[in-house]
Amino acid sequence: AEPAANDFIRDIVRRDNEQGTFGGRVQTRFPPEPNGYLHIGHAKAIVVDFGIADDFGGLCNLRLDDTNPDTEETEYVDSIVDDIAWLGYAPASVLYASDYFEQLYEWAELLVKAGKAYVDDSPGDVISAQRGGFGKPGVESEYRNRSVEANLDLLRRMRAGEFADGSRVLRAKIDMQHENMQLRDPVMYRIRHADHHRTGDTWDIYPTYDWAHGQSDAIEGVTHSVCTLEFDTHRALYDWYLEQLPLPQDQPKQIEFARLEFTHTVTSKRRLKTLVDTGLVDGWDDPRMPTLRALRRRGYPASAIRAFCRDIGTTRTNSRQAIEALESFVRRDLNATAQRRMAVLQPLKLVLTNWPEGQVEHFEVANNPENPGDGVRSVAFSGELWIEADDFAQVPPPKFFRLSPGREVRLRGAYLITATDVVKDGDGNVVQVNATYDPASRGGNAPDGRKVKSTMHWVSVAHAVPGRAALYDRLFSAEVPGERTGEPLDDLNPDSRELLDAQFEAALADTPPGEVVQFERLGYFAHDPREPMLFHRTVGLRDEWAA
Ligand code: ATP
Ligand code: MG
Ligand code: MG
Repeated sequence: AEPAANDFIRDIVRRDNEQGTFGGRVQTRFPPEPNGYLHIGHAKAIVVDFGIADDFGGLCNLRLDDTNPDTEETEYVDSIVDDIAWLGYAPASVLYASDYFEQLYEWAELLVKAGKAYVDDSPGDVISAQRGGFGKPGVESEYRNRSVEANLDLLRRMRAGEFADGSRVLRAKIDMQHENMQLRDPVMYRIRHADHHRTGDTWDIYPTYDWAHGQSDAIEGVTHSVCTLEFDTHRALYDWYLEQLPLPQDQPKQIEFARLEFTHTVTSKRRLKTLVDTGLVDGWDDPRMPTLRALRRRGYPASAIRAFCRDIGTTRTNSRQAIEALESFVRRDLNATAQRRMAVLQPLKLVLTNWPEGQVEHFEVANNPENPGDGVRSVAFSGELWIEADDFAQVPPPKFFRLSPGREVRLRGAYLITATDVVKDGDGNVVQVNATYDPASRGGNAPDGRKVKSTMHWVSVAHAVPGRAALYDRLFSAEVPGERTGEPLDDLNPDSRELLDAQFEAALADTPPGEVVQFERLGYFAHDPREPMLFHRTVGLRDEWAA
């Protein structure tokens, strides 16, 4: 069971329950716009929205907030549904704001008839300029005092598709001098002759976020409408709209919390889409991306993401989390579950010159020393092995304790070996290391108890399976992408991926797609879900996070 969280939102829900505000009901929703793939920031919202419903015996729906036909696609809807399930949550229902278009329109007519909304023919830039600003008075539109009849006629003709895109809007008639800019006659409908991913060409006008959101909450019976802090100033408008309408249920309550942001990455669908569209990454599931798709492909366990989101708590203070902190949760999770394997990412051939010609031995190696229940596997060993190129130095620098001529080291779980000489190519590069092994050290220890300073991983050449390993660095080199110039792309790390031709222990060919293993000494690696023998480094072994 996951520990119960406590935070200011749960305090509000608890108080509402005690006071019987919603008759003891708790209903939340997760309301993404289907204009991109979900990212790690959305995971926080999902954990909050579904977590609260779970904790209070309520329900949480997924609502696709699909009010903008230009940017929304079925592909995104499908990925959102799938990513939520992967993260471990099951929406009570999957709902669409577009299903409420008719009801929203009826309510808009109601506002027009009550003299609380009007059609404005002003161009967009005039409307923006007239809105004024902080400490700057608003200016009433010349169309603000149209008659109810004229407004109703124009709204109906807007709906009927008579007018060009952008030529008119419907605005709420609130207060052009209000200190909260959101209440200076906000736009409710814009004209858009576009194909909507669900309603097709049925509509020529589309509701704005503010006109759709609270009303959708109310239609569904949401009690606590949790969203991020940037909607703080929208709350007064959320309430204003709801107060004008004959609601079928109790008026929902909007509650805001701080967005989740990380160092070295961006959490904005728009910016992530730019990376995809310009080919700066391979796609939404490129393992360098902060999308749930990508993190999953890279091997991040859903449980680690959930645990992290709960651990950081839910507050009203914006802050940026160190990406190393999330990696620390991932590492802890994988340390307990990942099977250990051997892989050589930059292979250098090692030949044991005293090994009996053609002999093969098998060693039993623990699958996970952290979890004896995972048992052992058999690993083949022979006189020709791949070792890591940087585990050998012909002239060892100070403090280099791995293999060099005359030096004895341990090959993990197998034998002690001593390097004797090297074979070089025409350019003087070492292409082979020759060594002798001590037959008495089978299992990795000498009977005379002599010590070696280094233990190295290896793969038998004749038994190895070739493949590729992808190593990743930060997608953005700056801690706060865009802090210097205002443009995050200026901080894109040009060397965020290194693809290596590697040699893998035979057992890795049986690793199911998507599974994460630990390559001894190298880190945790996820088997690509589509390409066999491609492994993505999830995280390294060393925890760089100091809490
Ligand atoms: P983006 O800017 O990436 O498009 P958004 O806020 O427009 O994000 P939506 O699809 O509208 O994305 O968001 C769905 C829900 O997820 C909203 O309730 C939103 O507040 C929440 N959310 C989005 N990004 C974050 C984040 N970084 N941290 C926490 N919650 C988030
Ligand atoms: Mg959005
Ligand atoms: Mg946004």
